[in-house]
Amino acid sequence: ALPNQNKPAWLRQRAPQGEIYSGLKDQLRGLKLATVCEEAQCPNIGECWNGELATATIMLLGDTCTRGCRFCAVNTARTPPPPDPNEPVNTATAVASWGVGYVVLTSVDRDDMPDGGSEHFAATVRTLKQLRPGILVECLTPDFKGDLDAVRHLARSGLDVYAHNVETVERLQKRVRDPRAGYMQTLDVLRAAKECGVYTKSSIMLGLGETDDEVIDTMLDLKAVGVDIFTLGQYLQPTPHHLPVTEFVTPEKFEYWRKFGQEEIGFRYVASGPMVRSSYKAGEFFLHSMIE
Ligand code: SF4
Ligand code: SF4
Repeated sequence: ALPNQNKPAWLRQRAPQGEIYSGLKDQLRGLKLATVCEEAQCPNIGECWNGELATATIMLLGDTCTRGCRFCAVNTARTPPPPDPNEPVNTATAVASWGVGYVVLTSVDRDDMPDGGSEHFAATVRTLKQLRPGILVECLTPDFKGDLDAVRHLARSGLDVYAHNVETVERLQKRVRDPRAGYMQTLDVLRAAKECGVYTKSSIMLGLGETDDEVIDTMLDLKAVGVDIFTLGQYLQPTPHHLPVTEFVTPEKFEYWRKFGQEEIGFRYVASGPMVRSSYKAGEFFLHSMIE
């Protein structure tokens, strides 16, 4: 495997700047709100926060996951601390008074909670939409162990986009994701969400050893369960203990996949690039998916 120190030039970070970015950063100081964008030092923050529709990601339900995927650096425990019951109202209130136009609410997996945290997400969405009906809300969810009632409960909470990531192609699922996750379970979650009449979205990482045909099959399967928005990005190894990168996919190849997904598969929108993450410029892409 290639060590990450030898990352190609297209993966080097740019310093965030821009007027909207600075404004949002100033406003945040007065709010008790932690963003994934800042905490994970996401290299896209300048672009996301300055987009046509500024986008930020907020993590609910704590920072400790009940699962352990081999690509993910989040802390793991069988019984994480219980969630803060005030979090939905506090988060919604802070986000409502902040200047972003599109917010992505996400979480770790909470297999220790009876509903996997579905109502916790839903309460956050409901409160946020009450306080600021104009804001667009995406929930990037765990699979709720395939509990489709939990999925439907959240899909009907008033959110705009239901996102759940398939992460990789079918053959590599066991190698990459926690064994409690799975390809079919993810497709079931996305289908159930779509049947509730919301936009759906899913993402894969490239550079884990997948073949082109497998990427195409994944796109076809996602399209078949009604996925509207699809994103592809480069997998980067978070620490030496995580799965190695097998390939740095070129920007040209990412562009090929973008066109392929949009023109051959027929997704409403495809975002594809080395630095693209599931929530990358999600607001802007959502607007385009409505227009195009
Ligand atoms: Fe935030 Fe996601 Fe954009 Fe990164 S890609 S800045 S985490 S919204
Ligand atoms: Fe990370 Fe999500 Fe896997 Fe938990 S379920 S280890 S948060 S990718």
